[in-house]
Amino acid sequence: MCADTIAITTFYRFLPLAPEPIAALKTRLEQVAEGANLRGLCLLSAEGINATVSASRSADLVCFKAVVQEALELHDLQFKDSSGKKHPFREFKVKVKNEIVTLGKPGFCPTLPHNDHITPKQWQADIRDPDTVVLDTRNAYEIKIGKFRRAVDLGLKEFNEFPQRVKSLNANKDQRILMYCTGGIRCEKAILEMRAQGFKNVAQLEGGILNYLKEFPEHDYQGECFVFDYRVAVDQNLQATSSYRLCPHCGQPGKTAITCCKCARQEVICEACFDQNQTHPTCSKNCAHHRAVNSGSRKPHLPELSKRHRR
Ligand SMILES: [Zn+2]
Ligand SMILES: [Zn+2]
Repeated sequence: MCADTIAITTFYRFLPLAPEPIAALKTRLEQVAEGANLRGLCLLSAEGINATVSASRSADLVCFKAVVQEALELHDLQFKDSSGKKHPFREFKVKVKNEIVTLGKPGFCPTLPHNDHITPKQWQADIRDPDTVVLDTRNAYEIKIGKFRRAVDLGLKEFNEFPQRVKSLNANKDQRILMYCTGGIRCEKAILEMRAQGFKNVAQLEGGILNYLKEFPEHDYQGECFVFDYRVAVDQNLQATSSYRLCPHCGQPGKTAITCCKCARQEVICEACFDQNQTHPTCSKNCAHHRAVNSGSRKPHLPELSKRHRR
């Protein structure tokens, strides 16, 4: 850990924000970030704030947090701090969106107190109950590299497919449902959706997988945890993955090392793309295209492109 020099914080809060305060907050955050050379991504909307911000000096991050708390008049905001060798984002951006996490239902905002949040310790006990359903609210490509044992994968390409997929589950509305995601924000909205569909007994893992691994590495959660920044994934000790990279063909996490049949470059691609072209793997869309043209096949045989970096 001593080699880590970048201080990183992640936080979100659902709270009603009017257009004027949003504009003022955007300007204020950009000023602070510029003065302290911060990096990161802050999403603002009428339903709140969702952000990951990093600094080379931890004192600068402390100042940034103070500004956020003061501007939002919130003094109980929970910041999830970590450190890394690199900034998770290249620059600092504030984006004003319809939702701070895209379910396609702006206005679906949880209110305090969170009596449906369970701590990692309680979660560990509850998921052992065979009468509960453990539901992963993340996308399929995230679940592929790591999940809680016996978790249900809804096969989502994007989070906004969640309402429809839950409907098609035809699950028992009285059964206890335990939901989790990376850091908790998706479940905040997912719980409201489940309630709207008539589910009576739903709860979420407080702070998501990242909070769980902090307390219980190598316990019940298997594999690595996908994250939406340059690290691709973090391992059980919350360190940047040493196995996964984003596949140059489809943008999903992969760990199959190949040598490109066109340009001989060493690259890491995903298992699905490797399976489609095992004998002639390529390092990029460009090489795949030239390989397809030269070999006379009509089209490079690659899976459908997914929209990347959407929760
Ligand atoms: Zn791929
Ligand atoms: Zn190549």
